[in-house]
Amino acid sequence: MGRYIGPVCRLCRREGLKLMLKGARCETAKCAMERQWRSSPPGMHSWRRRRKAGDYGVRLREKQKVKRYYGVYERQFMIYFRMAERARGNTGDALLSLLERRLDNVVWKLGFGPSHRASRQAVSHGHIYVNGRRVNRPSYLVQQGDRVTVKPSERSKNHIRAVVGDDGMTVQPWLQMDASTLEGTIVALPTREDVQIPVEEQLIIEMCSR
Ligand code: SF4
Repeated sequence: MGRYIGPVCRLCRREGLKLMLKGARCETAKCAMERQWRSSPPGMHSWRRRRKAGDYGVRLREKQKVKRYYGVYERQFMIYFRMAERARGNTGDALLSLLERRLDNVVWKLGFGPSHRASRQAVSHGHIYVNGRRVNRPSYLVQQGDRVTVKPSERSKNHIRAVVGDDGMTVQPWLQMDASTLEGTIVALPTREDVQIPVEEQLIIEMCSR
């Protein structure tokens, strides 16, 4: 599946939200969203007063925001939507849970990568193992009880250790991380509460069901 390789700060500016796509830089004053003159929507005429978005525009922006945060394109996103529709329970919750379970997202949430994109690269370059087997597909969906580890080579371990540090970081309740062994465990499947950006999933469902 393809991935976006253009400038990412403009995606945050477009959505009017910090999507945290650049790792440590996102926490600093250099973040474009922290600078008043750069936090407006991208484009030559962004200074002009824009028309208020209509129903379609509002729903489209909600969908684009989620796609950009998780780094998925339309085709893949619609695959997740169809899976969520078939799942039991609330479709919106199921959709967000599927996106959270992507391996690149899990690697990022475990702190093995400084950003979502860097984590995706770590996966596709073969640095990440799931249950002892190499998985180089960022879209791989983890299951409860899966063990996510780093390739047993000095190079890979040093690469990840430099990001994790000695103490690791606090991970979300559905994950567990051992910084000494660089091993993460999926203790539960993610729920709606584990999504870290504000999302109105009902708008996405309405958009995708048209
Ligand atoms: Fe978005 Fe990070 Fe760029 Fe800030 S620094 S605009 S949060 S990608």
